[in-house]
Amino acid sequence: MEIIVQKFGGTSVGSIERIQNVANRVIEEANNGNKVVVVVSAMGKTTDELVNLAKQISKNPSKREMDMLLTTGEQVSIALLTMALKEKGYDAVSLTGWQAGIETEAVHGNARIMNIDTARIHEHLNEGKIVVVAGFQGITKDQEITTLGRGGSDTTAVALAAALNAKKCDIYTDVTGVFTTDPRYVKKARKLQSISYDEMLELANLGAGVLHPRAVEFAKNYQVQLEVRSSMERERGTVVEEEASMEQNLIVRGIAFEDQVTRVTVQGLPNGLHTLSTIFTTLADHGINVDIIIQSTTNEDTTSLSFSIRTEDLEETLNVLQSHKEILQYATVEHESGLAKVSIVGSGMISNPGVAAEMFKVLAEHGIEVKMVSTSEIKVSTVVQQSKMVAAVEALHEAFQLAEEAADAPVVS
Ligand code: ADP
Ligand code: ASP
Ligand code: MG
Repeated sequence: MEIIVQKFGGTSVGSIERIQNVANRVIEEANNGNKVVVVVSAMGKTTDELVNLAKQISKNPSKREMDMLLTTGEQVSIALLTMALKEKGYDAVSLTGWQAGIETEAVHGNARIMNIDTARIHEHLNEGKIVVVAGFQGITKDQEITTLGRGGSDTTAVALAAALNAKKCDIYTDVTGVFTTDPRYVKKARKLQSISYDEMLELANLGAGVLHPRAVEFAKNYQVQLEVRSSMERERGTVVEEEASMEQNLIVRGIAFEDQVTRVTVQGLPNGLHTLSTIFTTLADHGINVDIIIQSTTNEDTTSLSFSIRTEDLEETLNVLQSHKEILQYATVEHESGLAKVSIVGSGMISNPGVAAEMFKVLAEHGIEVKMVSTSEIKVSTVVQQSKMVAAVEALHEAFQLAEEAADAPVVS
């Protein structure tokens, strides 16, 4: 018998009726003669609601207590799904992250999985039980409860699939697969049959919320066979694999975007060897994640820097810069909020140098100003006005012909 891991997200377990639907899909896999491990998220918007409760108590709640609070959401789902399976005549057992042997690093709110002791899961599977595991949670060596970051149930599922040497890991969600861009914003978005781990990793890191980036990392590192599919519709989903077959010559495979971006500009910094390391080490020491960085030297003595951050980190960034003004020796700090990042991703870009130019041309033709740029082998990211974000995505989707079926076939040059 082979092991299959299935993961169901918040919307898919959002009501009792939907939990019954999930139970039926789990039972189908069990009836196919598989050992089934199911990972579930908290019901519907439960995690957001729990975050809101905490905010009513404290502006800056303890991270340890946040993890204690948020992990309760997944515990509700595992118990209810297990009850539903038992009602339908199947033996099942629910396990929290720690009961399932998921050990994480000692970081609250965004912990990485370090190790999984699968003994207990194997024991239950060998007893003929369906094992239902709470997503998004683990425990440190010191027995502290942790969470894996928002959307982290995907990572629980893929990590378990890797540790259990599962035949496959199916991520069931509220869309039918991975699309060329978020179908909730762009009606013409088209479902991909397959996508490579590398492209999916870029899309996930650049804001495509359909998969947690660390889940894709695990899948790539352990070669987990991954499929994103609908918990409601019966159609095949999107396979995430090493080489996206038939599609490898496609220049742009997808477009990701995220809002709430702020650009910070620090002017009049001394033009010294250590300037960059001092400023970015200072920001990193305060947990501020800097994304795109642009340096411009206007004269021999001074230099200026622009960098982008999440808007939620702006207050902290300004405080840190202000309190380190003497060490950093800059003249002024300016910032611009209300920005967004729009990125095109595709492995075919490696051999097509004109892609960035094409992207800038399309944006210019639509009157969209590019404020920052960053590129890698398989992506180009631009920072634009947030009010133009969706228009930019739509224009690029059109220009790179992502809506067309032919985009699934190799581009013949
Ligand atoms: P779950 O609760 O099942 O984990 P999520 O909300 O985390 O579901 O992820 C699914 C959502 O991801 C979709 O509803 C969709 O709006 C969003 N999404 C963003 N980018 C994409 C994309 N490229 N393809 C499909 N869905 C996407
Ligand atoms: N419930 C968690 C969240 O909302 C984890 C997840 O859904 O993957 O982020
Ligand atoms: Mg998710």
